[in-house]
Amino acid sequence: MKKIALFGSTGSIGTQTVDIIEKYPDKFRLVSCFANKNIDLLSAQAEKHEPEFIGLYDEASYKKLCGKYKGKSELIFPKGNERTIVENCDTVVVAISGFAGIDITLSALQCGKCVAIATKEVLVAAGEIVNDYVKKYGGRIIPIDSEHSALWQCLEGINKNGDYKEHVERLILTASGGPFRTMDKKEFKNITVEQALKHPNWSMGAKITVDSATMMNKGLEVIEAERLYGVGADKIDILVHPQSIVHSMVECIDGNIMAQLGNADMRHPILYALSYPERLPTRFGRLDLTKAAALTFEKPDMEKFPSIQLAYDALRMGGTAPAVLNAANEKAVELFLNRKISFIEISQFVQYKLMKLCNNNMGEACTLEDIVTADRLARE
Ligand code: NDP
Repeated sequence: MKKIALFGSTGSIGTQTVDIIEKYPDKFRLVSCFANKNIDLLSAQAEKHEPEFIGLYDEASYKKLCGKYKGKSELIFPKGNERTIVENCDTVVVAISGFAGIDITLSALQCGKCVAIATKEVLVAAGEIVNDYVKKYGGRIIPIDSEHSALWQCLEGINKNGDYKEHVERLILTASGGPFRTMDKKEFKNITVEQALKHPNWSMGAKITVDSATMMNKGLEVIEAERLYGVGADKIDILVHPQSIVHSMVECIDGNIMAQLGNADMRHPILYALSYPERLPTRFGRLDLTKAAALTFEKPDMEKFPSIQLAYDALRMGGTAPAVLNAANEKAVELFLNRKISFIEISQFVQYKLMKLCNNNMGEACTLEDIVTADRLARE
């Protein structure tokens, strides 16, 4: 029985993780769950699973929860208490949206835990530090993002011991292309929040849905893939695949291409992240290729979606540039969702911040403090 601590339990990934735990009661147990403000859903999860600890990151909401909650779980404010919370678990699932997931990720690794991570922003902004923690404290990072789970499974097929680098020609991240793949660029200035929140294939939280519409999501995933698999920016490509059935591929030096396929259902990569190294029989849908649409692939339109190039640029600049890219994007998406800036201004804001804050730090190694400062400056 694996004991799971879940951070971001009320979100899209969080609720799907809870669903998996409920579908495999003989394999997994929810021992703690945390969210930001959603008192009602967190309380309902606590009532059903009776985890040891529950809590909220937002202080005002946490105080309200303390006044209201009558259940059996112990209430604990998560900030500053991460190590106490994760002590008694096997796997920590990080599904908080944004760089806010950094503290729990690093604390869990410091305790030598297995971290199943959905929060790509942490790997983008501080991936090198996360990797240092893995080396130093002996924990492990397992990707939940479907593309990175796909790459991981393909790479395992190439070499189980993780010694794959010399065999890899390139990693190919697939992208749905988002809701504006076929829209004329001239129309982009009129895109509304409602349109950007309608993803054609996946149902996700608001921030990642907007990232998919600008295709910054794919840019962030390029950096995430580099941090996880260490192959370098020049060996990571993107292919637009509107059907979202091939979740990513690895091309080997001998020309063979390994691919991982499945339904557009995040519960598949979540289940694999939780059950690893075991594979469990699925207790939900599986892909029926006879019913699937024809699979198509095309190059991404970098001119229409400038965020992709910005992410490659930040990765190549190194230092704090990926942290600036990520923070500027988080802020710009928040402004867009609050109807303060337009859709096309999201990438313009990110480009401006990159140019303003990152011209002097090419290739420099940086500390966690440097990253936190860069994150703050980029949001200002
Ligand atoms: P959601 O917005 O649906 O959920 C976010 C969760 O994090 C909620 O539980 C929310 O709590 C909590 N949260 C939000 N802000 C904070 C904060 N400042 N501190 C602590 N907790 C916070 O997001 P998703 O589930 O869609 O995405 C989560 C992460 O997973 C993102 O990094 C995303 O990029 C990644 N991801 C998501 C995929 C998906 O299919 N959804 C696919 C691949 C990756 P509350 O509800 O109380 O506000």
